[in-house]
Amino acid sequence: MLIVISGPSGVGKTTVIDRLLHHPEIGPELKFSTSATTRKPRPGEIADVSYHFISTQEFERMVAEDAFIEWAHVHGNMYGTPVRELHAAREQGRDLLLEIDVQGAAALREKFPQALMIFLKVSEDMLRKRLQGRPSALSPEDLEKEIALRMSNARDELEQAGHYDHIVENRDLDVTVDEIVSIIRKEKARPRNGAN
Ligand code: ADP
Ligand code: 5GP
Repeated sequence: MLIVISGPSGVGKTTVIDRLLHHPEIGPELKFSTSATTRKPRPGEIADVSYHFISTQEFERMVAEDAFIEWAHVHGNMYGTPVRELHAAREQGRDLLLEIDVQGAAALREKFPQALMIFLKVSEDMLRKRLQGRPSALSPEDLEKEIALRMSNARDELEQAGHYDHIVENRDLDVTVDEIVSIIRKEKARPRNGAN
C-alpha cells in the first residue's frame, strides 16, 4: 500500500510521520520514502534518512534517467520520490509512507489510483507559530522570507485538500497519530484490487 501524507510546511508532517514509524503496531509495517531534494539540510536532519540531499545537476540527471516516480518544484527547490524507494518497500513487504507536496500527490494518484491520501491541516496562526518555532540555520531575515513564502504557498495547498481521501486536523499530536493509525488500519482491512 502507498500512504501519502501532505499538508502545508510546518503543519507537523515530519513529526507525525516519526511517531507513525515508531508506533508499536503499525510502525514495523511501514517504510518511509526518503525523497531526494536540492534543498540544504536543516539542523537535526540526517542525510539519506531525512532526505537524499543532492545537487541540482544530480537531480536533473535523475529526472533525465526517469529515476523518479514523481518530482516537483516546491518552495524554490526540487523534490522527488526515487523509484528505488518503491522497489525497496516491495522487497521488504512493507507499505510505503510518502511525505510529498500536493503536486507530487496528484501525480502519484495518476499512477497509483489506490494510494491512501491524507492531508494534514491546522489554523493559519498555529502554522505560523510552528514555522517560527522550528529549528533553522537561516539568518532572521532569510527565515522571515522563507516563512512568508511557505505561508503564501499554504493557502494554495489548502485549496487542494478536497482531493485527498482524509483531512486530519493536527492540533493534539497524540490525537492526530491515533486518527491516522485508525485510518490506515481500516484501509488495510478493506479488500483491495490492483498492485498497490
Ligand atoms: P512539517 O514536516 O509539516 O514541515 P514539522 O513536523 O517540522 O512540520 O513541524 C513543525 C513544528 O511544529 C515543529 O517544531 C514540531 O515540533 C511542531 N509540531 C508538530 N506537530 C505539532 C503538534 N500537534 N502540536 C504542537 N507542535 C507541533
Ligand atoms: P521541506 O523543505 O519542509 O522538508 O518540504 C517542503 C515540501 O516538499 C513539503 O510540502 C514536502 O511534503 C514536499 N516534499 C518532500 N519530498 C517530496 C517529494 O519527494 N516529492 C514532492 N512532490 N514533494 C516533496
